Amino acid sequence: MTPFALSEDHVAIRDMARAFAAEKLAPHAVRWDEEKHFPVDVMREAAELGMGGVYISEDVGGSGLGRLEAALIFEALATGCPTVSAYVSIHNMAAWMIDRFGSDAQRRRWLPGLVMMESLASYCLTEPGAGSDAAALKTRARREGDHYVVDGVKQFISGAGVSDLYVTMVRTGDEGAGGISTLVIEKDTPGLSFGANERKMGWNAQPTRQVILEGARVPVENRLSDEGMGFRIAMAGLDGGRLNIGACSLGGADAALEKSLAYARERRAFGKALSDFQALQFKLADMATELEASRSFLWRAAAALDAGAPDATKLCAMAKRVATDRGFEIANEALQIHGGYGYLADYGIEKIVRDLRVHQILEGTNEIMRVIVARGLVGR
Ligand SMILES: Cc1cc2nc3c(=O)[nH]c(=O)nc-3n(C[C@H](O)[C@H](O)[C@H](O)COP(=O)(O)OP(=O)(O)OC[C@H]3O[C@@H](n4cnc5c(N)ncnc54)[C@H](O)[C@@H]3O)c2cc1C
Repeated sequence: MTPFALSEDHVAIRDMARAFAAEKLAPHAVRWDEEKHFPVDVMREAAELGMGGVYISEDVGGSGLGRLEAALIFEALATGCPTVSAYVSIHNMAAWMIDRFGSDAQRRRWLPGLVMMESLASYCLTEPGAGSDAAALKTRARREGDHYVVDGVKQFISGAGVSDLYVTMVRTGDEGAGGISTLVIEKDTPGLSFGANERKMGWNAQPTRQVILEGARVPVENRLSDEGMGFRIAMAGLDGGRLNIGACSLGGADAALEKSLAYARERRAFGKALSDFQALQFKLADMATELEASRSFLWRAAAALDAGAPDATKLCAMAKRVATDRGFEIANEALQIHGGYGYLADYGIEKIVRDLRVHQILEGTNEIMRVIVARGLVGR
């Protein structure tokens, strides 16, 4: 790819995901939100098209694509439903952690099922007392022979209760980041249970629950990499995860902008179409410009991550903040353009606003994105 144009392959991948979103997600998204329905069957159809393991190696059935392709896919899926796209992206992130840091035996055991989304994965870092300050996590894994005995609570876990594998950051050593390890905990592990499905503002088409570990016995062979590597593994996953969540915001914003353009042409006030008012034309122009600027920047960060650039983490944090802040603002402006109708569920706009709001909070809040960027600036 040149920095300014997508290749034919990129366009084909994006169009494939867009067509899937238009046919399989968009027509149902408002109902899934209302009914709190998690469409696992539809996600499996997406996996048949290679979207369950976008940047997973081909030897275990993954699509073997890069972060730019992932950004194209998650943006496209999010034009149909940001919530479903976001879950598929989290599943991809957790699977990638196994692909990148797992042994060959672990990769062959778990990844073929994950890439087809026959089994689903969740990412478990946050705890009730450790959100932004994730390295303060307290979930303890005590070694007993060839098992760890795990006690603790993971908070706000996307997909919890339905997912089959929980890629979980636990404390095996001292306080701080160096005492953390990563365990893959299977759903049927005795001592693993789930809290109630949280009632929340958006993201209703996927469950969010506590993951509760009470004397859960996890085989040592389920640990990814060495003891003490867990925080690095968690943060490596999040670099790409943040691009994916940013892409989901772009997709939601793009759908909201498209709806606004159609609505502004059709709705009349003061004897003309809304789109004839220059104030609204300027608003639409700004929305399109902010979207394009955010998208270009996200692609730049994706290319940096793929290239292993030394500033990739910083660029991913910058791009996550820009894409999720601008994405939310565009969706909110779209609601305004729809007037009172934007506030009604049937138009699908208020759902996008609700869904995109949480992207400014999770996978690191946008304040924490600034912490990451500032660390490089001030600490220089
Ligand atoms: C719907 C949903 C799904 C989620 N899914 C997952 C999941 O699948 N897996 C998972 O592990 N986690 C998940 N999370 C958790 C999410 O990542 C955390 O909520 C987030 O990291 C913030 O942590 P916190 O909620 O504890 O807020 P806190 O860390 O308590 O932060 C509160 C406020 O203080 C600010 N703040 C904190 N520290 C600083 C600082 N140093 N400088 C400036 N401001 C600061 C924050 O930005 C925020 O505004 C999910 C959350 C939600 C809401």
